[in-house]
Amino acid sequence: MVKKTGSDQAFTAASLDGMGGEPTYGGALSFLRRRYSRDFAGVDVVVSGVPLDLATTNRPGARFGPQAIRRASAMLSWGKPWPWGFDPFERLAVVDAGDCWFDFGRPETIAAAIERHARDIVDAGATMLTLGGDHFISEPLLRAHHARYGPLALVQFDAHSDTWADEGRRLDHGTQFRHAIEDGLIDPRHSVQVGIRTFNDADHGITVLDAAWVEAEGAAAVAREVRRVVGDRPAYLSFDVDCLDPGFAPGTGTPVAGGLSTAAARAILRGLAEVPFVGMDVVEVSPPYDVADVTALAAATIALDWLCIVARQRRRGIGHARIPSLTSVDP
Ligand code: MN
Ligand code: MN
Repeated sequence: MVKKTGSDQAFTAASLDGMGGEPTYGGALSFLRRRYSRDFAGVDVVVSGVPLDLATTNRPGARFGPQAIRRASAMLSWGKPWPWGFDPFERLAVVDAGDCWFDFGRPETIAAAIERHARDIVDAGATMLTLGGDHFISEPLLRAHHARYGPLALVQFDAHSDTWADEGRRLDHGTQFRHAIEDGLIDPRHSVQVGIRTFNDADHGITVLDAAWVEAEGAAAVAREVRRVVGDRPAYLSFDVDCLDPGFAPGTGTPVAGGLSTAAARAILRGLAEVPFVGMDVVEVSPPYDVADVTALAAATIALDWLCIVARQRRRGIGHARIPSLTSVDP
C-alpha cells in the first residue's frame, strides 16, 4: 500500500511502515526511500553502504556503487514489488544507516573498520543488507555475522570463485572467500557458488554450479540444488553483480561474457524463499561503466527481492532461530 506522500522521506518519514509515494526523480536518496537512522531499536533490517574499491583487480568505480544503487532504488519504492504482491515494509521495519567510514590512506585498517561497522548493526539484533563496494567487503562482513551466528552457509552469485590463494592478508576481491574458509567463517560443505565462468583448480569443498550448468538446468534446478547444499544452516547471500551477463550488468569491474540474465537470477532467488538467510550483500556495481543505470537497477531489484524473502519468512515464522522474530502484524 502506498501511504506516504511528500518529498525527502529519507528524513521526513514519520513512520517506517509501508512503501512511499515520493516522485522517483527528486528528493533525498536513501535505499528505497527508507528513513536514515542509526538508531536500530525495533528495526528488523539495516541497509548500509561500503563504498570501497581499493581491492579491485581490474576496472575501479565500485566506490560509487552505494550511491547508484540508492538512486536506482527510487524507481522501485512506490508500490508492491512484482511478483511478490505485498509491501515488504508493512512487515519489516527497515532503515538506511548511510555508509561505513574508513580511512582510504590506511588500507591496513579498512577490514577492521568494516567489521566494526557491521558488528554495530548485527549485534543490535538487526539483519544487515549491505551495498558495495567491491567484493572484498564480504570478508569483514562475514566476520561480523560469524561472531553472532557461527559458521555460515555462503550462497555466492559470481562469475569468479574469489577463493584464489594468497598469504591471508591481501586486500583483494579475488581471495576473500579463501580467507573465510581458512578462518572458519563459512562452512564450504554447505556453501554454493552460482554462475561461475572462470577457472580455479580448487573448489575448496564448495559446490560449484557454473554458468553452463545454470543455463542448461534452469532456475528451478539451481534453486533446488542450493537448498539441498545449504540445508537449515544460517545462510549469507553474497551477490556479485558480475554473475549477470555483461549485457544485463555492464557496470562492473570484471565483466565476463556468458552470464545469467537478470530474470534468471531473480527466478533462482525466488526459489530460495525458504533458505534461512541472516544477511546479504550486493557488490561490484561500478557506475562509471554502467549504461542507463541498468546494473544499479538490477542490484537494487535483487536487494528488494531479498527483502521480500526476509519479510515473507518473518510472516511464516520460518528462517533461522536467531533471527529476531516478527513483531509487526501481518495483514
Ligand atoms: Mn566476486
Ligand atoms: Mn566476480
